[in-house]
Amino acid sequence: MAAIRFCWGTFHAASRGLIPNADRQDDTESKTQGRLEAVIIDDNLKVIPQIVRQACEWGVKVSFSSYAALKTGNSDHVVSRDRMQRLEDLVEELKDLKRRLKNIVSSTYYLDHVHDYFRSGGVEDCRAGQKFVQVTPDGYLKACPEMPVTQRYTEYKRWRHRQECTSCWYGCRGESQVPLTIGRIRELLL
Ligand code: SF4
Repeated sequence: MAAIRFCWGTFHAASRGLIPNADRQDDTESKTQGRLEAVIIDDNLKVIPQIVRQACEWGVKVSFSSYAALKTGNSDHVVSRDRMQRLEDLVEELKDLKRRLKNIVSSTYYLDHVHDYFRSGGVEDCRAGQKFVQVTPDGYLKACPEMPVTQRYTEYKRWRHRQECTSCWYGCRGESQVPLTIGRIRELLL
C-alpha cells in the first residue's frame, strides 16, 4: 500500500469552502461547529498543533486517534521509538492547546496514554463489547471493528469478559474507558 503523506497546503486548500468559518483569520477561542478527526502518525507529529490552531480559526473541534497497523498491515506510520521524546512534547503541547483554545475534544486521559501506547505497543483494559460495540451494515455485532462477528443484533448479549487485546488506542476505544473523576467532569463542562 502506498504511503499517504500529510500535505498541509493541499489540506488547507481542499478544506476551503467545505469547513464553516474557513476564511476566519483570528486565533481566538472559537464558537465551534463540526469536528475534525485527526490520526496521530509518525509522519505528522510536527503539523498536529497546526491542525488544532487551524481548526480553531475555522470554529471546528478536533479529536485524535492513534495510528495502528491493524487495518492496513502497514507499520511505517507507527510512531518510531526514536521519536518518543518528540511525541511526549507533542502531548504536552496538545494539553496546553486544549486548555487555551478549548477546541480539542479528546480527553486529557486519552492524550496522556498516547505516549504509553506507542512506547509499549498497547494499552490494557479495553472495554470493547461492554461499553461499545460495532454493528455491521447487515446487522451483525462485533466487540470492535477488528474483532470477528459474534452475534446478530436481535440476539444481543453484552460481552461478559474484558478483552485481552491491547492492540489499538483509537479514540473511540480510549474515550470509552476514561475514569469519571472530578477532573473529567470539569473537562466535560468546559
Ligand atoms: S484494543 Fe480493543 S478496540 Fe482495539 S483492537 Fe483490541 S479489542 Fe478492538
